[in-house]
Amino acid sequence: MKRSEVNRNELSPMMKQYMEIKDKYEEEILFFRLGDFYELFFEDGILASRELELTLTGKNAGLKERVPMCGVPFHSAKPYLEKLVNKGYKVAICEQLEDPKTTKGMVKRGVVQVVSKGTLVDLDFLKEYDNNYIGSILDFKTKYILTYADVSTGHFYVCALPPKKDKLLSEVLNLNLKAVVLADNTDVELVDTLKNSYGISVYINSEYLEDEYQNIYKDIKDIHFLTGIKHLLYYLVIKELKDLSHIKEVEIVEKNEYLIMDIHTIRNLELFETLRLKERTYSLIWLLDKTKTAMGSRRLKHWMQYPLKEKEKIEKRYDMIEVLNNEFILKEELRKDLFEVYDMERLCAKVICGMLNARDVIQIKNSLKVLPSIIEKVAKLKFNLKIKDHHELYELLDKAIVEDPPISIKEGSLIKEGYNKELDELRGIRSGGKEFISSLEASEKERTGIKNLKVGYNRVFGYYIEVSKGNLKDIDESWGWERRQTLTSCERFITPLLKEKEALVLNAEEKIIELEYSLFLEIKDILKKELFNLKSTAEEISKLDAIISLSVASEELNLVRPELTSSHDVKIKDGRHPVVERVSKTEYIANDCIMDESIDTLLITGPNMSGKSTYMRQLAIIIIMAQMGSFVPAKSAVLPVFDNIFTRIGASDDLVSGESTFMVEMLEACNAIVNATPQSLILFDELGRGTATYDGMSIAEAILEYINKNIKCKTLFSTHYHELTSLDQKFTNIKNVHVSALEENGTITFLHKIKNGAVDKSYGIHVAKLAGMPQDLLKRANEILKYYESENKEPSVKQEQIIFDLGEEEDDKINILKEELDEMDPLNMTPMEAINALYNLKQKAKDLN
Ligand code: ADP
Repeated sequence: MKRSEVNRNELSPMMKQYMEIKDKYEEEILFFRLGDFYELFFEDGILASRELELTLTGKNAGLKERVPMCGVPFHSAKPYLEKLVNKGYKVAICEQLEDPKTTKGMVKRGVVQVVSKGTLVDLDFLKEYDNNYIGSILDFKTKYILTYADVSTGHFYVCALPPKKDKLLSEVLNLNLKAVVLADNTDVELVDTLKNSYGISVYINSEYLEDEYQNIYKDIKDIHFLTGIKHLLYYLVIKELKDLSHIKEVEIVEKNEYLIMDIHTIRNLELFETLRLKERTYSLIWLLDKTKTAMGSRRLKHWMQYPLKEKEKIEKRYDMIEVLNNEFILKEELRKDLFEVYDMERLCAKVICGMLNARDVIQIKNSLKVLPSIIEKVAKLKFNLKIKDHHELYELLDKAIVEDPPISIKEGSLIKEGYNKELDELRGIRSGGKEFISSLEASEKERTGIKNLKVGYNRVFGYYIEVSKGNLKDIDESWGWERRQTLTSCERFITPLLKEKEALVLNAEEKIIELEYSLFLEIKDILKKELFNLKSTAEEISKLDAIISLSVASEELNLVRPELTSSHDVKIKDGRHPVVERVSKTEYIANDCIMDESIDTLLITGPNMSGKSTYMRQLAIIIIMAQMGSFVPAKSAVLPVFDNIFTRIGASDDLVSGESTFMVEMLEACNAIVNATPQSLILFDELGRGTATYDGMSIAEAILEYINKNIKCKTLFSTHYHELTSLDQKFTNIKNVHVSALEENGTITFLHKIKNGAVDKSYGIHVAKLAGMPQDLLKRANEILKYYESENKEPSVKQEQIIFDLGEEEDDKINILKEELDEMDPLNMTPMEAINALYNLKQKAKDLN
């Protein structure tokens, strides 16, 4: 039965209430609280029963037919909720807003929050080293406005992007937005790409929140930014009922203050995850992240996502690393302190979102406990970080909350003794009553002479005296016992005195629970007032943790402080790719990268697998590390500050639609050429290989010419087109380098060493051999090669013919003999030469046996 088919007049009052609430939450799955359960009806019930593997039953709703229903117990609803949210559904949680015990008639109900992937706050659902962003995209034709927020940390940003879909998508993917709110006039193709190609939840909303939370954007004047902010706020506050009072301000992200990298570059350089497995392990952040707190880890990631361009700011980070590198003991002690600090940013969000429990408060307290020690050490280091000690708050929390409180805040046992007089008194009454009850058993046994009498308690009947059936005859009426419960083997009684004490204990118990709850809420209010101060401290701690992490990495990975130059020189001595170095089983070969003012392009040739793209990536990674404020993997490094890194390396994924590989390659190259400035870095790996040889070569050459004539930015260009290597004669700013390889008896060894000049051999067939291609196939390739080379009178580069040592060695030696014989020209040999040659051949033939 569908919800839309129901005759509402026939419904029971409760079901009418359900319908009214559900009407407002059409898109969401409604969890409707009924006593100890959340119940889901109609289509929601059917869907949830399928997704959560719950039994679908029915509920009598006043109609002839029962309505489809499934339910989950309220105290164990979390895993079900998580499952639905992770599958991309939004869940509206509808609670009872009045206490059923004190309400006559039906209790009021209302949705208290909407939970979706983009706005999770619960720490259990979130990755500690990642932000969880929800964004809004507005298309103003001349630009896109992207607004995004992490409700779990209270960060809120807005930025303007050029009106290009691929740039927008690149940013959305880079930020890893979980959900996006779009206005209803948004281009359908964009909606489709976000939803279907990238699995991002898309919500449509065209309303704007006008008169709440103005304090967070009071300094922003730009009308487009304001519209974006109000658009996201409307969704969060009105649609998802979020309390955002932990958000201090909206930050404008000025893209031109940072080194810009698009999503291809970020992915190709494996900054945050590996290309193939999409895992953090073996990414650059994995290598550099030595932080001790979740906040520090997110901060470091942010630094890598947004490398700086301002020399002074970058050098400040270098200075701090240098100080830390000289203060080993202090640094280690600080790391121990930081280890004690919990995720204060997300704990602050929990204070606001009504999800805080006493265990969270203990985490806040324990975090505050180490602050004095951190402050003292930071002062010794003379770092300019404003960390408050929050002493009063710490004292209060320490006095108030027990060390190991329960998860629930509604069942007492939260507040320490000595914190509140009334609570202590009530607890005295309760324990007095309990003591009396426990001594009652002994005294009643004595008084009645019934030896197996027991005093007990259960939730339904309360306290009782239990007497076995056999002893019932011994009960004297004058004792005034009243029967409470009959069981098969015994009877349970209550006495007037026991009843009196029971009332005292239960009364005290109830009051204790109520009082503890209200005391907890008071503490929560105090935390709320301190929230922005706590958040500032959390922020400073995150910076400290991130910088210490960079210092630790600099020592563990043998990094060096780069020198930033205002000239256009790149001078890297013995540079390394830190991740390949760490992962590689063989020794990593360090390489220089020298491009002074006069050289803009290095044209790199060399066999496949020799290390060309590693060399290119290495340069980009060194630059990114340098500009995020880190030391770099080299013996020494002089670098200018770059504004953009463009890459076209390896297979790339197409962001917008199903373009061909070559088209994507050209789009990316075009993007680089159009947007690069003299301060940019371009990495092109075998550009043009996606089309026919002459096409590809011509395009590659024209691009190189264009860059070196018009842009003059630092460029690494690897190529198989050896024809291009003569470009250095035409352009003085192009220099040839190659990756050397050693060839001996048909086997090739990659030396991974970058040397000056172009390579004069290519080793394609050798690499095919290394890959284990069948011998016959390789022989055939050799033959074909010979044919082509004889056709082409002047090959620009000689493909080294392969000498086989595969399979039977004999075969190979015979081949060598044959080749030598082939090359001999008896008519042009002196008799002496002929005899020597014959002698040599005989010697070689001997080896065959
Ligand atoms: P190419 O781009 O020339 O095909 P790659 O850069 O992909 O080659 O390198 C191939 C492999 O060689 C890499 O996976 C890496 O393990 C190894 N390698 C590359 N450069 C070095 C180096 N400098 N030192 C040691 N090993 C290296």
